[in-house]
Amino acid sequence: MQNDKVDANVDSFRIDAHHHLWRYSAEEYGWIDDTMQPLKQDFLASELLPALISAHVDGAVAVQARQTIAETEWLLAIAQTTPSIWGVVGWLPISSPDFRSHLDLFSGDPLLKGLRHVVQAEAEGFLDQKEFDDGISAIEGAGLVYDILILESQLAETMRFVDRHPKQSFVLDHIAKPRIADDEIEPWGSRIRELSLRPNVVCKVSGMVTEADPHHWTPAKLQPYFDVVLDAFGPQRLMTGTDWPVLTLGCEYSQWWGIVEDWISPLTPDERAQILGGTAARVYGLQARAADAAQSEKQISQGESI
Ligand SMILES: [Zn+2]
Repeated sequence: MQNDKVDANVDSFRIDAHHHLWRYSAEEYGWIDDTMQPLKQDFLASELLPALISAHVDGAVAVQARQTIAETEWLLAIAQTTPSIWGVVGWLPISSPDFRSHLDLFSGDPLLKGLRHVVQAEAEGFLDQKEFDDGISAIEGAGLVYDILILESQLAETMRFVDRHPKQSFVLDHIAKPRIADDEIEPWGSRIRELSLRPNVVCKVSGMVTEADPHHWTPAKLQPYFDVVLDAFGPQRLMTGTDWPVLTLGCEYSQWWGIVEDWISPLTPDERAQILGGTAARVYGLQARAADAAQSEKQISQGESI
């Protein structure tokens, strides 16, 4: 999956590895409760694009928010007509006996980069089920990523699950949702370090404001959790995501990028570039789009210097 030629240019692009889009309806987005009033409206590409521009983000990965096949079709259709959306992490019925036939219909779409299931809403032991394992084996065959969305209490079953799929590429969403609001770092910290020993898992630096309590948080409260994932995974296996628009409950889009930049400021330029876009490009297979973005930025900056 590594493309060294493109990686030489990694300092020139930024990827938001995790955002959502929706046309709001109470029936379809029941998880948006009354504490999330500002999210009860449409968030479409026309709202996303100014946010991307505000933080100089070149490309983005749209992630499913509904567990329907229609959601995957809808996101892919939007990505098709939105040059800034470089990929989609969709949803398909992974545990279903018909999963392979669904997968066949979608896996040829170059914009589909991965699949995700909302495991955080499932009962304990969900990831131990054979039906789900069989589905993941099919995903591996199709060359797609699987995004792991769990709570920190599901890290133990996640490790058993990952160990059964050593060749599958996994992205851990939202650093596995540690209990930041309660100032609890353990046992999350030890478990995340244990999970990071699996080289086929990378981690998204995202969703942390939400876990801290969007109304009462500071970057300093989040930083110890970032320090753990940086130390555990290293820059080559970290990517930045915003979880926009959920992020906006407590943080401006560009503010989040500023916080991540602050945290990574002691790193080398290449390490910073991995976290800001390089890892996402490599893992989700976005190198061609990233190379185009890097090239056009180089041309613009050369033009300006003349
Ligand atoms: Zn999200």
